[in-house]
Amino acid sequence: TGPDARLHTGDSELLGLEQAVNSLLDRMRQSYQQQARFVSDASHELRTPIAVIQGYANLLDRWGKEDEQILEESIRAIKSESDHMKKLVEQLLFLARGDSGKTRLVMEKVSLGNLMKEVLDESVLIDPKHHYILKNEEDDLLITGDSSMIKQAARILVDNAAKYTPEGGDILLRTGRNEKGHSFFLVQDEGIGISPDDTPHIFERFFRSDPARSRESGGTGLGLSIAKWIIDRHGGYFQVLSREGIGTRITVCFPS
Ligand code: ADP
Repeated sequence: TGPDARLHTGDSELLGLEQAVNSLLDRMRQSYQQQARFVSDASHELRTPIAVIQGYANLLDRWGKEDEQILEESIRAIKSESDHMKKLVEQLLFLARGDSGKTRLVMEKVSLGNLMKEVLDESVLIDPKHHYILKNEEDDLLITGDSSMIKQAARILVDNAAKYTPEGGDILLRTGRNEKGHSFFLVQDEGIGISPDDTPHIFERFFRSDPARSRESGGTGLGLSIAKWIIDRHGGYFQVLSREGIGTRITVCFPS
């Protein structure tokens, strides 16, 4: 190994370093672009309810005292738009905090069966329009995780099942262990289903197959991206099985 060889090694090290820096810059660029898009989409989503609230406030100002129907309609619309905005802002804050690395998970032993039982009890209380069923295939299926976060993810899946399933439909919650030995919980509905083209996109921020339908049922297009953020932090993964007009099953699995 003479000085030439040393020069050679130095060259290839430099090249390696250059590639590493370039790939880091690419990733930073990509993440910056994603953030910029997120901010622009979020502003757009917030502008709509603000414009509607302003419109109805003007209507109230002009006709509210004389026309009772306008009064009632405006109050109802302002309430519903501000509820939507509140939900949107809370979800945006969750994701922004998550992106900035400020969210700490509190890990503990969590019984998936008990957790799903709590989610079921809440759902039965707030939604009498569907029939909720829970099947725990194993007693005391324990995982390590942040129980309130996992519960939040499960609630999002159950809320969606209810949103996209006609009245009277069944919503099945199940916990168990899959063929790989991974613990799972799943939420299955008898709803409208998701098209194969849309399925790969449902976890993207603000993605909706049918924006009007999602909006009408109080959707923001952020629910599943929050669920994904939570499950990713647990090293978990999703499986989506859906047939249009038949229903959807979303399974959340936890290795280890
Ligand atoms: P949204 O607030 O619009 O429901 P999500 O992020 O929770 O937003 O879901 C994204 C989109 O995925 C929804 O708008 C809907 O098109 C589709 N989707 C999610 N869950 C279901 C389901 N259970 N059945 C049918 N479509 C669903």
